[in-house]
Amino acid sequence: MFNSALARTAAPRTQLTLIAALVGSGVTLTGVVGCPSVGAALASASSAVFPAALPLVAPRQREPGPPRPPAMPRPSSPPPAPRLIPGRADGVVPDGVTVFDTELPAVANLNPGLLRALRQAARDAAKEDVTFFVNSGWRSPKYQNQLLQEAVTNYGSAKEAARWVATPETSPHVSGDAADIGPPKAAAWLSEHGARYGLCQIYRNEPWHYELRPKASASGCPPMYADPTQDPRVR
Ligand SMILES: [Zn+2]
Repeated sequence: MFNSALARTAAPRTQLTLIAALVGSGVTLTGVVGCPSVGAALASASSAVFPAALPLVAPRQREPGPPRPPAMPRPSSPPPAPRLIPGRADGVVPDGVTVFDTELPAVANLNPGLLRALRQAARDAAKEDVTFFVNSGWRSPKYQNQLLQEAVTNYGSAKEAARWVATPETSPHVSGDAADIGPPKAAAWLSEHGARYGLCQIYRNEPWHYELRPKASASGCPPMYADPTQDPRVR
């Protein structure tokens, strides 16, 4: 009797001891525990500790699936485009640049003989209160091409644009052999005194465009071309 009563009271304790051991070891309890209600409760509690034991109740979006494709850029944030607009490194000149501003590629990349003559002329012109500004000097092929395309647009045809802007292959600006000097007062000073320094206007339609003609200091500047289309160098 005593033993029988002890056995009845000991049985549940033994079962609970077993359950505790199983929980502690991480074993899934559903179906192991004899009492369905106790097993379900413990299984529910254990799911928080061992979620992998209940894959069917996991959210669908967490189920393993095929590999996802790499994330595509959002339409609102396209990748940065390569720089297409010429800058100072291409010879673009900001306002107020003189022949002494050698930190700018447009000035620094000019033919040294041309730059030397321009500086000497600028020093002498300054004594007469005339300041030379470089409106354009050396240009990269990219910059020259942009100017040519703009001229085609502005003048309406490639033929008319050629009267004003040479190609990257033929432009004396790209080779560093030409500078456009302003304002008109400075260009007028060069028209009168430039030959003394070997500085000559080359095209009749471009009173600002000067190149070096070393013989001019002795024999004067050569006759001008009406416009660049008459220049055999740019044909
Ligand atoms: Zn020019």
